[in-house]
Amino acid sequence: MSDELCPLCGRPLGTENIDRHHLVPKTFKGKEQFPIHKICHRKIHSAFTERELLNTYHTWEALRAHEDIRSFIAWVARKPPGFYTRTYTAKDKKQRR
Ligand SMILES: [Zn+2]
Ligand SMILES: [Zn+2]
Repeated sequence: MSDELCPLCGRPLGTENIDRHHLVPKTFKGKEQFPIHKICHRKIHSAFTERELLNTYHTWEALRAHEDIRSFIAWVARKPPGFYTRTYTAKDKKQRR
């Protein structure tokens, strides 16, 4: 068990569905990787292009200040740490039970 926190959403990382994110893309000498929830990681890459990540969103502060990410964080805050779904982005409306 790890009690590390996700740098994006601030929830504990837990033990499943964990990815690593390079704040600075590898091609631009970014070496540092940060453990992050898979769902949070996916959100970052669906919200921003590589170029936007490089130019603007290379700090957690900048990422978290973005409107889209803020509403994502508010949404994911109520989910358990290992929560992951592929259907979150855009097309989850037909998932109603
Ligand atoms: Zn997270
Ligand atoms: Zn990444």
